Amino acid sequence: GFKCGIVGLPNVGKSTLFNALTQTAAAQAANYPFCTIEPNVGDVAVPDERLEKLAKIAGSKDIIPTRLAFVDIAGLVRGASKGEGLGNQFLANIRECDAIAHVVRCFEDSDITHVEGKIAPIDDIETIETELMLADLESLEKRAAALEKKAKGADKEAKETLDLALRCLALLREGKPARLVEVKPEERKIFEGLGLLSSKPVLYVCNVEEEAAAEGNNFSRAVEARAAAEGAVAVTVSAKIESEIAVLAPADQKDYLEAVGLAEPGLNRVIRAGYDLLRLITYFTVGPKEARAWTIAQGTRGPQAAGVIHTDFEKGFIRAETISYDDYIACNGESGAREAGKFRLEGKDYAVADGDVLHFRFAN
Ligand code: GDP
Repeated sequence: GFKCGIVGLPNVGKSTLFNALTQTAAAQAANYPFCTIEPNVGDVAVPDERLEKLAKIAGSKDIIPTRLAFVDIAGLVRGASKGEGLGNQFLANIRECDAIAHVVRCFEDSDITHVEGKIAPIDDIETIETELMLADLESLEKRAAALEKKAKGADKEAKETLDLALRCLALLREGKPARLVEVKPEERKIFEGLGLLSSKPVLYVCNVEEEAAAEGNNFSRAVEARAAAEGAVAVTVSAKIESEIAVLAPADQKDYLEAVGLAEPGLNRVIRAGYDLLRLITYFTVGPKEARAWTIAQGTRGPQAAGVIHTDFEKGFIRAETISYDDYIACNGESGAREAGKFRLEGKDYAVADGDVLHFRFAN
């Protein structure tokens, strides 16, 4: 599955946020049988209003959302790339993640020490990014030296890798993250193979004081501006509020949210932003037993989409009976969609679209 690593300096609210995510997941666990929770990995439901609407039309007994994993990666401090704090362990944990949720302290509280002595979210972001870039620089320089030897021979892949590695190095030496390098489509695989920490997509999570949960504050606005300028995404939450919401019964949550001026838990926005950041989309399977959401990467074709449910579906794929979400709703379900000519048979080359309601035909 896809994983989003939660990073940030100490005392910014990472654990508070992570615990809120997993408490929510734990509260849901009874309803979602496939939920696994490890100490530092939270497998959380991706909120999606469409699922309930589909279930209502189809009279589905159960609703099963799709899930996204968040990993709490503690221990990043200035100097991590040189082995400070949990140093290398920390970096290895990030390497395994597909995206980074970077928690930034945007709340003032004189009782809670800031490791750098003052609240300065942009400086904090740069401190963390610098550590990731330094780690990348070090690993790439070693790599490039080895590749140069190989590339002298006829090793075409070594040449291509070296070329890309050198372009990344040039950027990193200018103090820019590797995700800003221009990667040709045919280089994608090589780029991923480099495993660069600063190449991962980043979501900034601005942790603000309770009073600013709905509107944000000057700190979070500065982070949002930075995110917009670098094509990243920022979400503002109050980790404290989220940790309080997480332990409430759903009925009480509504009142609480209203009282603090929120339309929904901030965590929902964090989860959805993480999902979008990873370029993930959702398709649905809908029947009387259950309405269920499944996660695939954008551009996934029919057979591979089917393979998410079961490898047999992929191997024996014949076709996907397809109704787009809007048609399913507008026609009030499958039979209406059939009558209206909105029921399509799609083959092996079909790129599944977000919201598709699918039924796979396959041969054993
Ligand atoms: P971590 O080191 O990044 O995992 O930070 P923690 O989640 O452990 O939080 C550090 C301290 O800050 C704890 O005492 C939290 O209760 C507190 N904290 C977290 N979020 C907020 C917040 O939004 N407002 C205030 N005032 N304190 C917070």
